[in-house]
Amino acid sequence: MDCIFCKIVKGEIPCTKVYEDVDVLAFLDVNPVSLGHCLVIPKQHSENIFDISENVLQKIIVVGKRIVEKLKTVTNIPAVNLVNSSGKDAGQEVMHFHLHIVPRRENDGLKIHGEKPKNLQKPSEQELQKLAELIKF
Ligand SMILES: [Zn+2]
Repeated sequence: MDCIFCKIVKGEIPCTKVYEDVDVLAFLDVNPVSLGHCLVIPKQHSENIFDISENVLQKIIVVGKRIVEKLKTVTNIPAVNLVNSSGKDAGQEVMHFHLHIVPRRENDGLKIHGEKPKNLQKPSEQELQKLAELIKF
């Protein structure tokens, strides 16, 4: 498989590692959007949120939190975004699950959430209720 993150896991492509265990690898993003921008990935290939196991996902989010704690201690960041894009329509570019840890600083100019489409309609209370009933588990 021609997956860049699998190659990083195998050591075929170097990375600036910040954490590693049997299931999870975390490293500095080579194209950081802010200082300290890290990626946390599963060692075993999963494409995205749709196919990753709950067990590995739990490990990834905990590693993410620990990285945030370290970044807070080391660089005193006041804020952070944890971002996962799953699927091409969500902007996923590397098709191997990855959680971005994006340190944020006052007036850093980053637009993580994007902008709402101008024609976006607010759903009615009834529509929200109906949708919640369908999603509930
Ligand atoms: Zn992969």
